[in-house]
Amino acid sequence: MNHIFPRHTKARPPIAAKGDGAYIIDTSGKRYLDGSGGAAVSCLGHSDPDVINAIKGQADQIAFAHTGFFTSEPAERLADRLVAHAPKGIDRVYLVSGGSEAVEAALKLARQYFLERGEPQRTRFIARRQSYHGNTLGALSTGGNAWRREPFAPLMIDTSHISPCYDYRGREDGETPEAYGQRVADELEGELQRLGPETVIAFVAEPVVGATAGAVPAVPGYFKRIREICDRHGILLILDEVMCGMGRTGTLFACEQDDVTPDIVTIAKGLGAGYQPVGAMLCSSAIYAAIEAGSGFFQHGHTYIGHPMACAAADVVVQKLTDGGMTDRAARMGDVLNTALHDAFGQHPNVGDIRGRGMFRGLELVADRDTKEPFGPGLGLHKALKAAAFEAGLICYPMGGTIDGRRGDHVLLAPPFIVTEDQIGELMDKLSTAM
Ligand code: PMP
Repeated sequence: MNHIFPRHTKARPPIAAKGDGAYIIDTSGKRYLDGSGGAAVSCLGHSDPDVINAIKGQADQIAFAHTGFFTSEPAERLADRLVAHAPKGIDRVYLVSGGSEAVEAALKLARQYFLERGEPQRTRFIARRQSYHGNTLGALSTGGNAWRREPFAPLMIDTSHISPCYDYRGREDGETPEAYGQRVADELEGELQRLGPETVIAFVAEPVVGATAGAVPAVPGYFKRIREICDRHGILLILDEVMCGMGRTGTLFACEQDDVTPDIVTIAKGLGAGYQPVGAMLCSSAIYAAIEAGSGFFQHGHTYIGHPMACAAADVVVQKLTDGGMTDRAARMGDVLNTALHDAFGQHPNVGDIRGRGMFRGLELVADRDTKEPFGPGLGLHKALKAAAFEAGLICYPMGGTIDGRRGDHVLLAPPFIVTEDQIGELMDKLSTAM
Protein backbone atom coordinates (compact mmCIF):
# COMPACT_ATOMS: atom_id res chain seq x y z
CA MET A 1 0.00 0.00 0.00
CA ASN A 2 1.09 3.54 -0.54
CA HIS A 3 -0.24 5.80 2.18
CA ILE A 4 2.36 8.55 1.94
CA PHE A 5 1.42 11.83 0.23
CA PRO A 6 3.27 11.94 -3.09
CA ARG A 7 5.65 14.83 -3.63
CA HIS A 8 5.98 16.52 -7.06
CA THR A 9 5.11 13.39 -9.12
CA LYS A 10 2.59 10.60 -8.76
CA ALA A 11 5.25 8.00 -9.58
CA ARG A 12 6.61 6.35 -6.46
CA PRO A 13 10.25 7.28 -5.93
CA PRO A 14 12.88 4.66 -5.08
CA ILE A 15 13.39 3.89 -1.41
CA ALA A 16 16.57 5.34 0.09
CA ALA A 17 18.20 2.57 2.12
CA LYS A 18 21.68 3.75 3.08
CA GLY A 19 24.01 6.71 3.04
CA ASP A 20 27.69 6.41 2.17
CA GLY A 21 29.64 9.70 2.19
CA ALA A 22 28.52 11.67 -0.86
CA TYR A 23 26.25 8.84 -2.05
CA ILE A 24 22.73 7.59 -1.35
CA ILE A 25 22.03 3.91 -2.09
CA ASP A 26 18.49 2.72 -2.79
CA THR A 27 16.97 -0.65 -1.91
CA SER A 28 17.89 -2.04 -5.35
CA GLY A 29 21.55 -1.21 -4.66
CA LYS A 30 21.74 1.69 -7.14
CA ARG A 31 24.15 4.46 -6.01
CA TYR A 32 23.33 8.13 -6.52
CA LEU A 33 25.96 10.84 -6.20
CA ASP A 34 24.31 13.57 -4.13
CA GLY A 35 25.10 16.60 -6.25
CA SER A 36 22.62 18.83 -4.45
CA GLY A 37 23.00 17.65 -0.85
CA GLY A 38 19.25 16.90 -0.97
CA ALA A 39 18.45 20.56 -1.22
CA ALA A 40 21.62 22.16 0.21
CA VAL A 41 21.20 20.11 3.38
CA SER A 42 23.75 17.28 3.60
CA CYS A 43 26.92 19.37 3.93
CA LEU A 44 28.87 16.61 5.71
CA GLY A 45 27.68 13.74 3.54
CA HIS A 46 25.49 10.87 4.62
CA SER A 47 27.60 8.92 7.07
CA ASP A 48 29.44 11.33 9.35
CA PRO A 49 30.52 9.27 12.40
CA ASP A 50 30.83 12.27 14.74
CA VAL A 51 27.29 13.50 14.17
CA ILE A 52 25.91 9.97 14.38
CA ASN A 53 27.72 9.37 17.68
CA ALA A 54 26.48 12.67 19.09
CA ILE A 55 22.89 11.68 18.33
CA LYS A 56 23.35 8.23 19.87
CA GLY A 57 25.04 9.70 22.95
CA GLN A 58 22.28 12.24 23.48
CA ALA A 59 19.57 9.60 23.02
CA ASP A 60 21.22 7.67 25.85
CA GLN A 61 21.06 10.74 28.12
CA ILE A 62 17.77 12.51 27.42
CA ALA A 63 15.91 12.67 24.12
CA PHE A 64 13.24 15.25 24.94
CA ALA A 65 12.55 17.77 27.67
CA HIS A 66 9.87 20.39 27.00
CA THR A 67 11.31 23.90 26.76
CA GLY A 68 8.43 25.14 28.91
CA PHE A 69 10.24 23.43 31.78
CA PHE A 70 13.86 22.84 30.80
CA THR A 71 16.72 23.91 28.65
CA SER A 72 19.31 21.29 27.73
CA GLU A 73 23.08 21.06 27.59
CA PRO A 74 23.28 20.62 23.80
CA ALA A 75 20.89 23.54 23.22
CA GLU A 76 23.03 25.80 25.42
CA ARG A 77 26.24 24.65 23.73
CA LEU A 78 24.81 25.11 20.24
CA ALA A 79 23.56 28.63 20.99
CA ASP A 80 26.97 29.63 22.40
CA ARG A 81 28.75 28.19 19.39
CA LEU A 82 26.46 29.92 16.88
CA VAL A 83 26.83 33.29 18.59
CA ALA A 84 30.63 32.92 18.73
CA HIS A 85 30.65 32.70 14.92
CA ALA A 86 27.68 34.94 14.06
CA PRO A 87 27.94 38.40 12.51
CA LYS A 88 28.89 41.01 15.14
CA GLY A 89 25.96 42.18 17.25
CA ILE A 90 23.89 39.01 16.72
CA ASP A 91 23.75 37.33 20.10
CA ARG A 92 20.37 35.72 20.75
CA VAL A 93 19.28 32.36 19.38
CA TYR A 94 15.80 30.89 19.02
CA LEU A 95 16.00 27.20 18.10
CA VAL A 96 13.35 25.64 15.86
CA SER A 97 12.85 22.52 13.75
CA GLY A 98 13.32 23.76 10.18
CA GLY A 99 13.52 26.60 7.71
CA SER A 100 9.88 27.68 7.43
CA GLU A 101 9.62 27.69 11.23
CA ALA A 102 12.71 29.86 11.47
CA VAL A 103 11.21 32.35 8.99
CA GLU A 104 7.85 32.38 10.80
CA ALA A 105 9.67 33.09 14.05
CA ALA A 106 11.61 35.92 12.40
CA LEU A 107 8.44 37.55 11.01
CA LYS A 108 6.69 37.35 14.38
CA LEU A 109 9.69 38.58 16.34
CA ALA A 110 10.02 41.57 14.02
CA ARG A 111 6.33 42.39 14.44
CA GLN A 112 6.51 41.99 18.22
CA TYR A 113 9.59 44.23 18.33
CA PHE A 114 7.60 47.13 16.90
CA LEU A 115 4.56 46.37 19.07
CA GLU A 116 6.78 46.58 22.16
CA ARG A 117 8.04 49.94 20.92
CA GLY A 118 4.50 51.27 20.54
CA GLU A 119 4.47 51.17 16.73
CA PRO A 120 1.45 48.94 15.95
CA GLN A 121 0.94 50.64 12.57
CA ARG A 122 3.93 48.75 11.22
CA THR A 123 2.29 45.71 9.67
CA ARG A 124 3.95 45.27 6.29
CA PHE A 125 6.94 43.39 4.93
CA ILE A 126 8.83 44.02 1.72
CA ALA A 127 10.60 41.11 0.03
CA ARG A 128 11.78 40.29 -3.46
CA ARG A 129 10.27 38.60 -6.46
CA GLN A 130 11.98 35.33 -7.28
CA SER A 131 12.65 34.38 -3.66
CA TYR A 132 11.58 31.49 -1.46
CA HIS A 133 11.17 31.71 2.29
CA GLY A 134 9.21 28.55 3.10
CA ASN A 135 5.84 26.92 2.65
CA THR A 136 3.90 27.77 5.83
CA LEU A 137 1.41 30.55 5.17
CA GLY A 138 3.42 33.41 6.69
CA ALA A 139 6.64 32.36 5.00
CA LEU A 140 4.79 31.71 1.73
CA SER A 141 3.29 35.20 1.90
CA THR A 142 6.78 36.64 2.16
CA GLY A 143 8.26 34.61 -0.68
CA GLY A 144 8.01 36.08 -4.16
CA ASN A 145 7.62 32.91 -6.13
CA ALA A 146 4.45 33.46 -8.14
CA TRP A 147 3.50 29.84 -8.88
CA ARG A 148 3.76 28.86 -5.21
CA ARG A 149 1.80 31.89 -4.00
CA GLU A 150 -1.03 32.05 -6.50
CA PRO A 151 -2.90 28.82 -5.57
CA PHE A 152 -3.19 30.04 -1.96
CA ALA A 153 -3.99 33.72 -2.56
CA PRO A 154 -5.10 35.82 -0.77
CA LEU A 155 -2.20 35.25 1.57
CA MET A 156 -1.96 36.15 5.22
CA ILE A 157 0.73 38.76 5.51
CA ASP A 158 0.80 42.08 3.76
CA THR A 159 3.96 41.75 1.70
CA SER A 160 4.98 43.54 -1.45
CA HIS A 161 7.85 42.54 -3.67
CA ILE A 162 10.62 44.45 -5.41
CA SER A 163 13.08 43.19 -8.05
CA PRO A 164 15.68 40.63 -7.16
CA CYS A 165 19.32 41.59 -7.66
CA TYR A 166 19.99 39.40 -10.65
CA ASP A 167 22.46 40.98 -12.98
CA TYR A 168 22.31 38.23 -15.62
CA ARG A 169 18.78 39.27 -16.54
CA GLY A 170 18.40 42.65 -14.88
CA ARG A 171 21.48 44.60 -15.92
CA GLU A 172 21.00 46.95 -18.83
CA ASP A 173 23.46 47.33 -21.72
CA GLY A 174 26.46 49.36 -20.61
CA GLU A 175 25.41 49.42 -16.95
CA THR A 176 28.15 48.39 -14.49
CA PRO A 177 27.30 45.72 -11.92
CA GLU A 178 27.74 48.32 -9.17
CA ALA A 179 25.37 50.81 -10.80
CA TYR A 180 22.89 48.01 -11.38
CA GLY A 181 23.10 46.97 -7.71
CA GLN A 182 22.42 50.51 -6.51
CA ARG A 183 19.53 50.90 -8.94
CA VAL A 184 17.71 47.75 -7.82
CA ALA A 185 18.47 48.43 -4.14
CA ASP A 186 16.87 51.84 -4.60
CA GLU A 187 13.62 50.09 -5.51
CA LEU A 188 13.33 49.51 -1.76
CA GLU A 189 13.37 53.27 -1.18
CA GLY A 190 10.70 53.70 -3.87
CA GLU A 191 8.51 50.98 -2.36
CA LEU A 192 8.87 52.48 1.13
CA GLN A 193 7.78 55.86 -0.19
CA ARG A 194 4.80 54.27 -1.92
CA LEU A 195 3.65 52.41 1.21
CA GLY A 196 4.73 54.96 3.82
CA PRO A 197 7.91 53.84 5.60
CA GLU A 198 6.22 54.09 9.00
CA THR A 199 3.94 51.15 8.03
CA VAL A 200 6.76 48.73 7.23
CA ILE A 201 8.34 46.20 9.61
CA ALA A 202 11.19 44.70 7.64
CA PHE A 203 12.84 43.90 4.36
CA VAL A 204 13.38 40.16 3.86
CA ALA A 205 15.89 38.63 1.44
CA GLU A 206 18.12 35.64 0.78
CA PRO A 207 21.74 36.82 0.43
CA VAL A 208 22.25 34.19 -2.28
CA VAL A 209 18.92 33.21 -3.83
CA GLY A 210 18.65 29.43 -3.82
CA ALA A 211 15.74 27.26 -4.86
CA THR A 212 13.85 29.74 -7.02
CA ALA A 213 16.78 31.17 -8.95
CA GLY A 214 19.72 28.76 -8.70
CA ALA A 215 22.45 30.27 -6.50
CA VAL A 216 22.23 33.92 -7.46
CA PRO A 217 24.40 36.21 -5.30
CA ALA A 218 23.84 39.95 -5.23
CA VAL A 219 26.35 42.23 -6.95
CA PRO A 220 28.91 43.97 -4.70
CA GLY A 221 27.46 46.93 -2.79
CA TYR A 222 23.81 45.91 -3.16
CA PHE A 223 23.24 44.78 0.42
CA LYS A 224 25.19 47.73 1.85
CA ARG A 225 22.79 50.06 0.06
CA ILE A 226 19.83 47.97 1.30
CA ARG A 227 21.18 48.25 4.87
CA GLU A 228 21.49 52.05 4.52
CA ILE A 229 17.89 52.35 3.31
CA CYS A 230 16.61 50.13 6.17
CA ASP A 231 18.53 52.22 8.71
CA ARG A 232 17.31 55.51 7.23
CA HIS A 233 13.71 54.44 7.88
CA GLY A 234 14.21 52.36 11.02
CA ILE A 235 12.99 49.15 9.41
CA LEU A 236 14.60 45.79 10.14
CA LEU A 237 16.71 43.72 7.76
CA ILE A 238 15.88 40.01 7.91
CA LEU A 239 18.28 37.78 5.97
CA ASP A 240 17.09 34.28 5.19
CA GLU A 241 20.12 31.99 5.15
CA VAL A 242 18.14 28.78 5.45
CA MET A 243 19.65 27.54 2.20
CA CYS A 244 22.81 29.62 1.69
CA GLY A 245 23.99 29.67 5.32
CA MET A 246 26.09 27.25 7.37
CA GLY A 247 29.21 27.29 5.27
CA ARG A 248 27.48 26.58 1.97
CA THR A 249 28.93 29.67 0.23
CA GLY A 250 32.40 29.32 1.76
CA THR A 251 31.76 31.44 4.88
CA LEU A 252 29.65 30.28 7.81
CA PHE A 253 27.08 33.02 7.14
CA ALA A 254 26.67 34.04 3.50
CA CYS A 255 26.15 37.71 4.47
CA GLU A 256 29.76 37.92 5.67
CA GLN A 257 30.71 38.18 1.98
CA ASP A 258 28.31 41.06 1.45
CA ASP A 259 29.82 42.88 4.42
CA VAL A 260 26.41 43.47 5.96
CA THR A 261 24.92 42.61 9.35
CA PRO A 262 21.21 41.83 9.52
CA ASP A 263 18.97 42.44 12.52
CA ILE A 264 17.59 38.91 12.24
CA VAL A 265 19.01 35.92 10.37
CA THR A 266 17.43 32.51 9.80
CA ILE A 267 19.29 29.22 9.32
CA ALA A 268 18.23 25.56 8.97
CA LYS A 269 19.05 22.87 6.32
CA GLY A 270 22.87 22.60 6.72
CA LEU A 271 22.60 23.27 10.46
CA GLY A 272 21.37 19.72 11.00
CA ALA A 273 23.28 18.49 7.92
CA GLY A 274 20.33 16.17 7.29
CA TYR A 275 20.86 14.19 10.51
CA GLN A 276 18.19 16.02 12.48
CA PRO A 277 15.45 18.53 11.60
CA VAL A 278 16.70 21.74 13.16
CA GLY A 279 16.79 25.44 12.43
CA ALA A 280 17.37 28.69 14.23
CA MET A 281 16.51 32.35 14.19
CA LEU A 282 19.24 34.63 15.49
CA CYS A 283 18.72 38.28 16.37
CA SER A 284 20.60 41.32 17.61
CA SER A 285 20.82 42.26 21.26
CA ALA A 286 18.92 45.48 20.46
CA ILE A 287 15.86 43.53 19.31
CA TYR A 288 15.99 41.20 22.24
CA ALA A 289 16.41 44.12 24.67
CA ALA A 290 13.15 45.66 23.39
CA ILE A 291 11.31 42.37 23.99
CA GLU A 292 12.81 42.01 27.47
CA ALA A 293 11.97 45.58 28.40
CA GLY A 294 8.43 45.13 27.09
CA SER A 295 6.34 42.03 27.67
CA GLY A 296 9.44 40.09 28.77
CA PHE A 297 9.45 37.21 26.34
CA PHE A 298 8.83 36.29 22.73
CA GLN A 299 5.15 35.40 22.22
CA HIS A 300 5.83 32.25 20.25
CA GLY A 301 6.73 28.58 20.61
CA HIS A 302 6.40 25.05 19.29
CA THR A 303 6.58 21.76 21.18
CA TYR A 304 9.76 20.51 19.49
CA ILE A 305 11.85 23.70 19.62
CA GLY A 306 15.36 23.22 20.99
CA HIS A 307 15.05 19.44 20.80
CA PRO A 308 18.09 17.98 22.63
CA MET A 309 18.93 15.37 19.98
CA ALA A 310 18.60 17.91 17.17
CA CYS A 311 20.79 20.36 19.08
CA ALA A 312 23.40 17.67 19.87
CA ALA A 313 23.68 16.91 16.14
CA ALA A 314 23.75 20.59 15.14
CA ASP A 315 26.38 21.42 17.74
CA VAL A 316 28.77 18.88 16.20
CA VAL A 317 27.88 20.09 12.70
CA VAL A 318 28.74 23.71 13.56
CA GLN A 319 31.90 22.58 15.34
CA LYS A 320 32.99 20.74 12.18
CA LEU A 321 32.05 23.68 9.95
CA THR A 322 34.10 26.12 12.03
CA ASP A 323 37.01 24.66 14.05
CA GLY A 324 36.90 21.48 11.96
CA GLY A 325 37.61 23.46 8.76
CA MET A 326 34.66 22.21 6.70
CA THR A 327 33.56 25.72 5.69
CA ASP A 328 37.07 26.40 4.37
CA ARG A 329 36.83 23.14 2.49
CA ALA A 330 33.52 24.30 0.96
CA ALA A 331 35.30 27.42 -0.30
CA ARG A 332 38.20 25.39 -1.69
CA MET A 333 36.20 22.61 -3.31
CA GLY A 334 33.67 25.20 -4.49
CA ASP A 335 36.45 26.73 -6.62
CA VAL A 336 37.17 23.29 -8.07
CA LEU A 337 33.47 22.82 -8.86
CA ASN A 338 33.23 26.27 -10.42
CA THR A 339 36.23 25.67 -12.67
CA ALA A 340 34.83 22.28 -13.71
CA LEU A 341 31.46 23.87 -14.55
CA HIS A 342 33.11 26.56 -16.67
CA ASP A 343 35.26 23.97 -18.44
CA ALA A 344 32.30 21.72 -19.19
CA PHE A 345 29.56 24.25 -19.91
CA GLY A 346 31.26 27.61 -20.48
CA GLN A 347 30.63 27.36 -24.23
CA HIS A 348 27.46 25.25 -24.11
CA PRO A 349 24.83 26.77 -26.43
CA ASN A 350 22.08 26.30 -23.82
CA VAL A 351 23.92 27.48 -20.73
CA GLY A 352 23.49 31.22 -20.31
CA ASP A 353 25.07 31.76 -16.91
CA ILE A 354 27.24 29.91 -14.40
CA ARG A 355 27.13 31.56 -10.97
CA GLY A 356 27.21 31.06 -7.24
CA ARG A 357 29.62 30.94 -4.36
CA GLY A 358 31.42 28.09 -2.63
CA MET A 359 29.53 24.81 -2.83
CA PHE A 360 26.40 26.61 -4.04
CA ARG A 361 26.40 26.85 -7.83
CA GLY A 362 23.78 27.37 -10.50
CA LEU A 363 23.51 26.96 -14.25
CA GLU A 364 20.93 28.96 -16.19
CA LEU A 365 19.45 26.99 -19.08
CA VAL A 366 18.48 29.08 -22.09
CA ALA A 367 17.23 28.46 -25.61
CA ASP A 368 19.67 31.05 -26.93
CA ARG A 369 22.90 32.10 -25.20
CA ASP A 370 23.12 35.43 -26.98
CA THR A 371 19.58 36.70 -26.51
CA LYS A 372 19.25 34.92 -23.10
CA GLU A 373 15.85 33.73 -24.29
CA PRO A 374 14.59 31.07 -21.84
CA PHE A 375 13.01 27.80 -22.93
CA GLY A 376 9.23 27.95 -22.90
CA PRO A 377 7.28 26.67 -19.88
CA GLY A 378 5.63 23.91 -21.94
CA LEU A 379 8.91 22.10 -22.37
CA GLY A 380 9.32 21.20 -18.69
CA LEU A 381 13.05 21.20 -19.27
CA HIS A 382 14.05 21.21 -15.62
CA LYS A 383 11.91 18.14 -14.95
CA ALA A 384 13.43 16.27 -17.90
CA LEU A 385 16.92 17.15 -16.70
CA LYS A 386 16.18 16.02 -13.16
CA ALA A 387 14.91 12.67 -14.48
CA ALA A 388 17.86 12.17 -16.85
CA ALA A 389 20.39 12.97 -14.12
CA PHE A 390 18.64 10.66 -11.66
CA GLU A 391 18.70 7.89 -14.25
CA ALA A 392 22.46 8.46 -14.64
CA GLY A 393 22.87 8.21 -10.85
CA LEU A 394 23.16 11.91 -10.05
CA ILE A 395 20.92 13.90 -7.72
CA CYS A 396 20.78 17.52 -8.83
CA TYR A 397 18.19 20.21 -8.20
CA PRO A 398 16.76 21.70 -11.39
CA MET A 399 13.89 24.18 -11.09
CA GLY A 400 11.82 26.35 -13.34
CA GLY A 401 11.05 29.84 -12.20
CA THR A 402 9.54 33.04 -13.44
CA ILE A 403 12.09 35.78 -13.47
CA ASP A 404 10.33 39.08 -13.81
CA GLY A 405 7.72 37.58 -16.07
CA ARG A 406 10.04 35.36 -18.11
CA ARG A 407 9.93 31.68 -17.48
CA GLY A 408 13.41 30.21 -16.98
CA ASP A 409 15.03 26.93 -16.04
CA HIS A 410 18.10 26.43 -13.90
CA VAL A 411 20.02 23.68 -12.13
CA LEU A 412 21.25 24.09 -8.58
CA LEU A 413 24.31 22.16 -7.46
CA ALA A 414 25.11 21.95 -3.76
CA PRO A 415 27.20 18.84 -3.09
CA PRO A 416 28.42 17.81 0.36
CA PHE A 417 31.60 19.67 1.31
CA ILE A 418 33.38 16.33 1.69
CA VAL A 419 33.32 15.55 -2.04
CA THR A 420 36.68 14.76 -3.60
CA GLU A 421 38.02 16.10 -6.90
CA ASP A 422 37.31 12.69 -8.45
CA GLN A 423 33.70 12.88 -7.29
CA ILE A 424 33.40 16.36 -8.82
CA GLY A 425 34.66 14.76 -12.05
CA GLU A 426 31.99 12.07 -11.74
CA LEU A 427 29.36 14.75 -11.11
CA MET A 428 30.40 16.61 -14.28
CA ASP A 429 30.32 13.40 -16.38
CA LYS A 430 26.85 12.51 -15.17
CA LEU A 431 25.53 16.03 -15.55
CA SER A 432 26.97 16.23 -19.10
CA THR A 433 25.23 12.95 -19.97
CA ALA A 434 21.94 14.27 -18.62
CA MET A 435 22.32 17.64 -20.39
N1 PMP B 1 14.02 29.74 3.28
C1 PMP B 1 14.80 29.35 2.25
C2 PMP B 1 15.75 30.35 1.65
C3 PMP B 1 14.73 28.06 1.74
O1 PMP B 1 15.49 27.69 0.70
C4 PMP B 1 13.82 27.15 2.34
C5 PMP B 1 13.69 25.70 1.84
N2 PMP B 1 14.07 25.46 0.57
C6 PMP B 1 13.04 27.59 3.41
C7 PMP B 1 13.17 28.88 3.86
C8 PMP B 1 12.06 26.65 4.10
O2 PMP B 1 12.75 25.68 4.78
P1 PMP B 1 12.04 24.29 5.15
O3 PMP B 1 11.81 23.56 3.87
O4 PMP B 1 13.05 23.62 6.05
O5 PMP B 1 10.79 24.62 5.88
